[in-house]
Amino acid sequence: MEIKEAELVVSAPSKAHWPESELLEIVLAGRSNVGKSSLINTLCGRKALAYVGNTPGKTRLLNFFDIDHRFMLVDVPGYGFANASKQMLIQFGEMMEDYFSSRSQLKGLVLLVDLRHAPTEDDIGMAEYARYYEIPFAVVATKMDKVPRSQQSRQIKLIAEALTCSQEAVIPFSAMTKQGREELLEAIEALLNNKEPESERFGLFSYFKALGIH
Ligand code: GDP
Repeated sequence: MEIKEAELVVSAPSKAHWPESELLEIVLAGRSNVGKSSLINTLCGRKALAYVGNTPGKTRLLNFFDIDHRFMLVDVPGYGFANASKQMLIQFGEMMEDYFSSRSQLKGLVLLVDLRHAPTEDDIGMAEYARYYEIPFAVVATKMDKVPRSQQSRQIKLIAEALTCSQEAVIPFSAMTKQGREELLEAIEALLNNKEPESERFGLFSYFKALGIH
């Protein structure tokens, strides 16, 4: 898959503003500062489609990006920033709940974690959340260029274990070098096609497999 045109359709503060479109959707989530905006820009070949360095917690919006009129990428606010008020956490939870539970176009989640660190409780919670709603997900480990090659596989193992998915499910990625871009596009394509675990790339499938459910 290649991406030719990408356009922000709407930044939706609430359900009433979600676009009326039949395009399938892939949602991108990760903790604040994980590199989500940079990843969206790299993926779409644009410099500033998504705003890099956004003040954490300022944006309580779902951003819907139309990709080649083929599907939508949905960018949810970064979670897990310091000083999040209780009210903000509730708002975020409600917004995600609304979206995950009722958006029939939603085909998959791309969960972003930082390759340098173990997933946080919030990351693990997001993976569990996706499993609960039976939304297949791919994991992207960002900022690959900041981790020496010799340490990358150890970090990938750590991430896979924490999120209960196979190591093959974790796609190392760098917005700086564009490494991992092709693999991520492939994973998105597979999510859109609702493909079963041929690559065992998707957390949901490997999770069920681990439980012995096929
Ligand atoms: P967001 O809050 O998740 O949208 O994260 P941003 O895309 O705004 O990135 C947060 C910071 O990490 C910025 O300073 C980016 O320049 C930096 N960053 C993002 N991706 C990468 C990457 O792949 N490599 C490096 N070295 N820095 C990155």
